[in-house]
Amino acid sequence: MPSPWPKHARIAVTLTFDFDAESGWLSRDPALKDRPGIMSQGWYGAKVGVPRILRVLKAEKLPATFFIPGWVVEKYPAESAMIRDAGYEIGHHGYLHERATPDNPEGERDAFAKGMRALDAVLGVTPAGYRAPAWDLTPITLDCVKQHGMTYSSNLMDDVFPYVHPGTSIVELPVQWVLDDAPYFMFNPLVLNRPMNTAEAIYGVWRDEFLAMYEWGGLFNLTCHPEVVGHGSRMLMLRRLIRFMKKQKGVWFATCREVAQHWLTRSR
Ligand SMILES: [Zn+2]
Repeated sequence: MPSPWPKHARIAVTLTFDFDAESGWLSRDPALKDRPGIMSQGWYGAKVGVPRILRVLKAEKLPATFFIPGWVVEKYPAESAMIRDAGYEIGHHGYLHERATPDNPEGERDAFAKGMRALDAVLGVTPAGYRAPAWDLTPITLDCVKQHGMTYSSNLMDDVFPYVHPGTSIVELPVQWVLDDAPYFMFNPLVLNRPMNTAEAIYGVWRDEFLAMYEWGGLFNLTCHPEVVGHGSRMLMLRRLIRFMKKQKGVWFATCREVAQHWLTRSR
């Protein structure tokens, strides 16, 4: 099969970071705001995770996409501006990381619009793409994406290549749980009490996913969270993975927006 990527690249790699900070906890239970022990796990993403990730990306000279909920942009304007000013793409990720449900379309539309307004008001950013909190879509989500004039969605899990949603010009950039840091590393003694994986083990999983995608010629769309991947051993692992990928020939590192735009031109 001929390469679908620019310059006949063998694979496209998008490094994406969902900068959720504590919004994931708060959207599940607003009362957690009075539990600093729990909240601090999210604060870590802003205080330590984001600067560490930016440092690695800069040193390795790679593009990346950060999906940020509007509430996080408002609470952490300096960290969000750092991401923008370093030239990384910023995408839409809800307002307070609310998980949309099919029984509340108005609530979903409101949160979608509120997140957009926050990105514009604080950062002057009009995002080109949407990643739903927890990748959970409803029958109206793609309509919101379309109405706000976006180019892509990065939420569904049914392919290893991008595709255009039928009847629209919205490109889907598929994701996979296997390429997300959260299922391996998240820990909560009350809810998710299980041993955490070692970074070493997940290095093996992600490297092999990359090698498979290199062979298949698809999209390696990695999703990390500053509050999850931003810890010592995991940051070393992420850098090691990045360096491994950079050593291979024909790897196209791009932002989600670039991949989506490329896919649209070749679909026309
Ligand atoms: Zn998220």
